[in-house]
Amino acid sequence: MAAVEKIGVIGAGQMGCGIAHVCALAGYNVHVYDLSQDRIEAGLATINGNFARQVSNGKLAEEDRKAALSRIAGSSDMNDLAPMDLVIEAATEEEAIKRKIYAQLCPILKPEALLATNTSSLSITRLAAATDRPERFMGIHFMNPVPVMKLVELVRGIATDETTFTTAREFVATLDKTVTVAEDFPAFIVNRILLPMINEAIYTLYEGVGSVEAIDTAMKLGANHPMGPLQLADFIGLDTCLSIMQVLHDGLADSKYRPCPLLVKYVEAGWLGRKSGRGFYDYRGETPVPTR
Ligand code: NAD
Repeated sequence: MAAVEKIGVIGAGQMGCGIAHVCALAGYNVHVYDLSQDRIEAGLATINGNFARQVSNGKLAEEDRKAALSRIAGSSDMNDLAPMDLVIEAATEEEAIKRKIYAQLCPILKPEALLATNTSSLSITRLAAATDRPERFMGIHFMNPVPVMKLVELVRGIATDETTFTTAREFVATLDKTVTVAEDFPAFIVNRILLPMINEAIYTLYEGVGSVEAIDTAMKLGANHPMGPLQLADFIGLDTCLSIMQVLHDGLADSKYRPCPLLVKYVEAGWLGRKSGRGFYDYRGETPVPTR
């Protein structure tokens, strides 16, 4: 079995940063790649801040923070991913973007290197077919925020070989996470169940059944959810939520997955949730204020 020591992460967004964080803490050397040096620097600053928060909460020793941080590098040059044993792609949830990345990446990677995607919803088999190594390709789907959430969904494509799957399972165990195995159907398990619930919450808002605050309070106190569905949508990113609903709608051809027009409108406005400063809540002040 191929030994995994060096890990490449594509995308220095919320998920890529979280994946780099947990891999470095587990002792792996990590290289993060994104389109520009600005994004890399913003990502490294986020990781730095998250480590510092863990230290101040007493969850991480200062020397472990320093050691983990020293294991993370980043650049906007994809050639730096050449020595990696495993690359986890966590770029924007758009199939065309991911395909383009694989086309550029595969000739750079070692032939034996494993390639994984953190996609929330796209077909692993179809993405695998866009690479030169479908047997060494699979879904390793982390949850947000990665340092906190225990679960990782593992998804095989039709061609994924057993060694790849076993290596991924063992790798995830070293991160102290729990694996659940999902078949390669749109949005796998967690998002197949979660996103229609969030979409329904947005319809509830759209139809005027309740305000943002009423809906989130209802689900927090009435269903014992730690976060309201609209708060959670902002946290996931509304572009990602829309993209997952579109994959469910297209992939399962059932009108029950129709993305709510209000979700579409927020995305068109560039109100993508926390990451852009505004979504169902406005995060630009001291405390989040509902936008409806
Ligand atoms: P994000 O918008 O925070 O980050 C995406 C990053 O990808 C950005 O930094 C962007 O610059 C980068 N990127 C775009 N095109 C690129 C390219 N060609 N090469 C390199 N980098 C590129 O998004 P995110 O929330 O981190 O989501 C990333 C992936 O993780 C998606 O596939 C998403 O479905 C999945 N995911 C998201 C969540 C969530 O809750 N947000 C949870 C699990 C999985």
